[in-house]
Amino acid sequence: QKRDGNEPEFLQAVEEVLESLEPVMDKHPEYEAAGLMERLVEPERVVSFRVPWVDDNGKTQVNRGYRVQFNSAIGPYKGGLRFHPSVYQGIIKFLGFEQIFKNSLTGLPIGGGKGGSDFDPKGKSDQEVMRFCQSFMTELSKHIGADTDVPAGDIGVGGREIGFMFGQYKRLRNEFTGVLTGKGLTWGGSLARTEATGYGLCYFTNAMLKANGKSFEGKTVVISGSGNVAIYATEKATELGAKVVALSDSNGYIYDKNGIDLAAVKQIKEVERKRIKEYLNVHPEAEYHEGCKGIWTIPCDIALPCATQNELDEESANALIANGCFAVAEGANMPSTPEAVAAMQKAGLLFGPAKAANAGGVATSALEMSQNSMRYSWTFEEVDAKLKNIMEDIFKKADEAAAAYGMAGNYVAGANIAGFKKVADAMMAHGII
Ligand code: NDP
Repeated sequence: QKRDGNEPEFLQAVEEVLESLEPVMDKHPEYEAAGLMERLVEPERVVSFRVPWVDDNGKTQVNRGYRVQFNSAIGPYKGGLRFHPSVYQGIIKFLGFEQIFKNSLTGLPIGGGKGGSDFDPKGKSDQEVMRFCQSFMTELSKHIGADTDVPAGDIGVGGREIGFMFGQYKRLRNEFTGVLTGKGLTWGGSLARTEATGYGLCYFTNAMLKANGKSFEGKTVVISGSGNVAIYATEKATELGAKVVALSDSNGYIYDKNGIDLAAVKQIKEVERKRIKEYLNVHPEAEYHEGCKGIWTIPCDIALPCATQNELDEESANALIANGCFAVAEGANMPSTPEAVAAMQKAGLLFGPAKAANAGGVATSALEMSQNSMRYSWTFEEVDAKLKNIMEDIFKKADEAAAAYGMAGNYVAGANIAGFKKVADAMMAHGII
């Protein structure tokens, strides 16, 4: 608490995990004797560095870069890079901490890490983004490697940014390795990685619905965000028979009661990189509202928050409950506040926590690493089938762990416990390090 008091998001993530792990700690006194929890909440390494670059007006800009190498007990550090003005050490630490358990849940050999910068790619030219990425990677390259730490994308880091960073790493090291994931298909990327987090979220949600006698078929779905995760969650939910009626960005949200026209959204967000408001130019019959919070007042059966942390608060949760929503699954990382989670669980909603529900992205990144090591490429269908299996397996693990500790249906506790066990066993085997 004292050391990290100025990092509220990190404390929030740690508190939730520690609370769910209490029954596990009671059963395993040897963990306490080995200082396991104290070691688990302290990153193995935090790197923070200067990122100087020159903008299009010839002015020097300076941002701060981070890489938090949180836990390597079960494999090389793995986790995305976030470029957003809100980034500071506490955000990266919360994301890195969550990543440990998420990566463990995938069943694949990957440790937990996260990084990023307070750089804002919005409104920057391609040249500016390239100069920033090259400068960022010039320092980051000293700390990562295909067998050490393999970063990926996150908010503000998509195919363009990964390309510039990969190019710079290759140039600095004179080696072509799978040091980043989310790469382009012609230079080591995996098919289905772009779709993976959104698709995986729907596979997980579908498994959760099925286990409770429900499905996506004919249901109304509200999805926040309109980035990578939101777009592909919309695509898969629609494919599974649901109607997605709303999407948002940090300025506002659209409501199309006829169902979102995803081709129009892809054109606006992926091709033109414009605001979601532009949707009304194509569909004037839809509604646009300023501000993002109101999206949770739209009546729906299923809600999938896919934008950012703490975007769904208690008031929003109560609005969802009042409107008859019966399931919420988190595509973004920690999008629901602790009060919102408590309200939804109390009201009996099915609730899929981020570290289980959005693990499809990192799982597919680990599949990309395997393909790079083998110098081989699986087909889209092969990767998608593996992703689906992994997400169904994650649901099963969370479901079983919750039941084993007398908390059936509490997938928050189940995911924390199931993710923790594997890491704990490995840390115990490695001694006090
Ligand atoms: P993108 O950058 O592609 O999209 C982010 C979306 O969220 C945009 O619509 C953005 O709107 C909105 N957003 C960002 N910050 C805020 C904010 N402060 N308030 C309101 N809206 C905001 O990122 P992703 O889709 O990749 O990531 C979304 C979430 O999913 C994040 O929490 C990320 O950590 C998580 N995630 C992503 C994975 C991946 O594979 N990409 C894997 C697992 C989790 P705007 O354009 O206005 O900023």
